[in-house]
Amino acid sequence: MHVAVVGAGAFGGWIAYQLLQQGAKVTLFDHWGPGHARASSGGETRLIRGTYGNDEVYTRLVAEAFAEWEGFQKRSGQQVYFPTGSLWLFSKSDDGYARSAMPLLQAQGLSLEEWSIAETRQRYPQVYLGDVQSVFWEKEAGYLMARKACQVVKEEIVKGGGQFQMEQALPGRIEGAGLTGLKLASGGRFHADAYVFACGPWMPKLFPALLGDLITISRQEIHYFGLPPLSKDYQSPNFPIWVDMGERVMYGVSDYDGRGFKVADDTREDPFDPSTADREVSAKKLQQIRSYLGYRFPALKNAPMTEARVCQYSNSPNGHFLLDQHPEADNLFLAGAGCGHGFKLGPSVGRLMAERIMNNTPTPREFQLESLLSAGIQSNQFEH
Ligand SMILES: Cc1cc2nc3c(=O)[nH]c(=O)nc-3n(C[C@H](O)[C@H](O)[C@H](O)COP(=O)(O)OP(=O)(O)OC[C@H]3O[C@@H](n4cnc5c(N)ncnc54)[C@H](O)[C@@H]3O)c2cc1C
Repeated sequence: MHVAVVGAGAFGGWIAYQLLQQGAKVTLFDHWGPGHARASSGGETRLIRGTYGNDEVYTRLVAEAFAEWEGFQKRSGQQVYFPTGSLWLFSKSDDGYARSAMPLLQAQGLSLEEWSIAETRQRYPQVYLGDVQSVFWEKEAGYLMARKACQVVKEEIVKGGGQFQMEQALPGRIEGAGLTGLKLASGGRFHADAYVFACGPWMPKLFPALLGDLITISRQEIHYFGLPPLSKDYQSPNFPIWVDMGERVMYGVSDYDGRGFKVADDTREDPFDPSTADREVSAKKLQQIRSYLGYRFPALKNAPMTEARVCQYSNSPNGHFLLDQHPEADNLFLAGAGCGHGFKLGPSVGRLMAERIMNNTPTPREFQLESLLSAGIQSNQFEH
C-alpha cells in the first residue's frame, strides 16, 4: 500500500515512520519542513510524563511511547529523550489527578511517588513550597528535543526507503467515497492508495466544513530565562522538569545547553492563525510569567529573559486527539487536535494510525470523530 502523509510534525512524522515499519510505501509532505518555527512541534523541548490522572488509555499509550522513544534513539543514534524526572506540585488544586494515576502507572511499570514537603524542600531548596500542599515525583518523566526529534524521524524515514517532499499538498475532490488525490502547490497531482492529513493547526482550514468549528487554535507563549553564572541549581540534569497544578497550570523545563530555564502557562490564550499571525510575545504575559517565576523559584526573580516563542495549540473540545477516517472518504484519514499534550505520544499516535490504515483496526473510541463531535468542554491538558 502506498500512503501519502501530509504534515511532518510529531503526528505526521510518526505516522509515516510507523507505516513504513508495517511495510507500507510512504511519501511524506511538508510545506515548511519537519519541526519548523510555525509548527506546533517546533521549538526546543516538550515534556514527556506518564501521569494522566485516572485515564487508562493515555497511561497505556504513554508507557508505549516511553519505550518507543528509547528504542528510536538507539536505532537512530540520536538522543532526543532526556529523563530528568518530574516534580508535580499541587498548591490550590486537588491532587486526585496524581493520586489516581499511581496504580495505573505502576501497572505499566512506571512510577509516581508522593514526597513530603520537608523531603522536597531538602532535595530542591530552590523551589518555594510555602503554598504547596502535596508533591509527587515521577522518575521516568523528562523532556524530548522537539524540532530535532521531528527532523530525526524524517531522516529515519528517508533512510528506511520513504520519500520526503517539501511541498504544500491540498486535498483533491472526494468522489464515490474516495479522495481522488492531492493537489500540489507546485503544480500537478499526486496519487496514492491512502492519504493522511496530519496538519496540526492547519487542519480546520483544510477541512472547514468538518473541522472548522471542532478544532480551535489558541496562541501560547513560552519564555526562557538565563541563569546566574555557574549556577547549576536550575540546570538539567540537576533540576527536573516540573508541573505546578495551581490556579493556573504552569510547567517548564530546566536549563540544558545554556538555553535558559523554560516557563510556560497552559491556559488557552487568544485564537491564532498559524500561517500569518505575528509571533511577538506580549508585555502582559511576560509580566505574569516573571511574577510567577520570582514567586516559585525565588533565585530567578531578576533572571533576564533570554528567549521567547509564540506557538499554538490545536484544541479539540475535550482535549482528546482526532485520529480517524474521514466520514466521506474511505481512503482519507485525519490526525490532529494534538492539543497541549500530543508531542510525547507521537510514536503511539503513529502506531494507532498505521494499524487503522493498514489493518482497519479502529482507534480508541475517544479519538474517533463521533466522540469529539459529542464531547463536553475541557479547559486544560491535565484533566485526563
Ligand atoms: C507551546 C506548546 C507547548 C507544548 N508542550 C507540550 C509538552 O510539553 N508535551 C507534549 O507532549 N506536547 C506538548 N505540546 C503539544 C504538541 O507539541 C502538539 O500536540 C504536537 O506537536 C502536534 O503535532 P502535529 O504534528 O499535529 O502538528 P504540527 O507540528 O503543527 O505539524 C503539522 C505540519 O503540517 C504541515 N502542513 C500543514 N498544512 C500543510 C499542507 N497543506 N501541505 C504540507 N504540509 C502542511 C505544517 O507545515 C506542519 O509541519 C505543546 C504545544 C505547544 C504549542
